[in-house]
Amino acid sequence: MGLHRRLNLLSNLLIFASFVLFANHFTLTYGKSNGTLHLDVTPINHDLYHTSGALLEEIESLVHRHPDKLSIEKVSSKNKGYEAQMTVVTYRQKWKESDDRTKLRILLTFGQHARELITTELALRLLSILSEEQFLPNVDRSTLNRTLDRLIIKVVPVENLNGRKRVEDGELCERRNGRGVDLNRNWSVDWGKKEKDYDPYEENPGPAPFSEPESQIMRKLSVSFEPHIWVNVHSGMEALFMPYDHKNTTPDGIPYQIMKSMLDDLNHFYLRDHCLVGSGGASVGYLAHGTATDYMYDIARVPMAFTFEIYGDLKASSKDCFRMFNPIDITSFNRVLNDWSAAFFQMFSIGVQQMDGVQSKAIASRFDNWVSIDDYLNGYLMHRKSRYAKKMEVLDLGLQEIRAYFRLFLLSSVLLLFMFCSRISKSTRPIVSGMSL
Ligand SMILES: [Zn+2]
Repeated sequence: MGLHRRLNLLSNLLIFASFVLFANHFTLTYGKSNGTLHLDVTPINHDLYHTSGALLEEIESLVHRHPDKLSIEKVSSKNKGYEAQMTVVTYRQKWKESDDRTKLRILLTFGQHARELITTELALRLLSILSEEQFLPNVDRSTLNRTLDRLIIKVVPVENLNGRKRVEDGELCERRNGRGVDLNRNWSVDWGKKEKDYDPYEENPGPAPFSEPESQIMRKLSVSFEPHIWVNVHSGMEALFMPYDHKNTTPDGIPYQIMKSMLDDLNHFYLRDHCLVGSGGASVGYLAHGTATDYMYDIARVPMAFTFEIYGDLKASSKDCFRMFNPIDITSFNRVLNDWSAAFFQMFSIGVQQMDGVQSKAIASRFDNWVSIDDYLNGYLMHRKSRYAKKMEVLDLGLQEIRAYFRLFLLSSVLLLFMFCSRISKSTRPIVSGMSL
């Protein structure tokens, strides 16, 4: 065989080998994007899990069956051609009462990370229990109703709808939003700081804090609603986290004690002591920068701000995302929903007790100065900018303005009164001079 033929054979072999490699690569990529997955990857179990569309439809009809307790808003926001839509459900007993500022306000969000489907199922379960279509075992409904009468709860069942749709299209490991930004790194506290093991596929914080419409909507919601309790519900492990995520310490003093004792109670009595309890940064094994919970605690001044991680299969392969983040059999699916529903309702009841207790002073003092003028203005501008503003938002905006004017009015009244009094005291000095000065 001449050198020429040998070279020819070699190059043919090389072409053949690269063709095989290419074909192999092609089938893998093709298979993945098409939702046909390799053997070692668990597909979504559609017998247990709703699609996002079906879930939101079910929630909508639940709300329509219970207009006395539930109401629904759809909010959307757009940035550089990317649009996000969010459904917000509000629970309040005796719906017709005027907005009662003495009630405990709770804001819960689910599905911020796209692949964590189980969290959105928990949202549906909580709303079904709130509307009395489902029940918690061993809980007396009238006692529960006395607690619920003291609350207003806002639920965002699927925060990251665009990302979720990608997961439903077969990208089972996607956690970011519809344009690749991690919504739990897009907030302003310690934003953009990257650890050594930073992986853009997982943690891309976006081009700027609040660059994403989803984060803008959530932030606006926190500004208008002023929650006392915030829970960002995730999966991937079992944990009850309090601030901080960006450093490995917790807040100190009374806020720490209040949060820690609540989480210990939930863990011990409702979650079989399975959960890690503590600051996210200290317990999870990595620091997270620009998270929603750190913002809620530090900037929005929400006195009790948590991240709950409700399920995780730590033995699953890192490529097998559906299995890693979601229970795949009916027994564990039901156990997760039952245990965590019970834990949430216990949290509601502890929250109400704390409001009544001595500790409420600490919460109140922390809560009083929670709206900085900066936040107020940002909230205001966001309201103005958003042309999708619905009645509720306009109402909220109106309330904010009224609140601001009222503060101004009070301040000027006090000043006027002060001036008036000092005048009177000057003019009446001869009369009162009889007193020994
Ligand atoms: Zn998550």
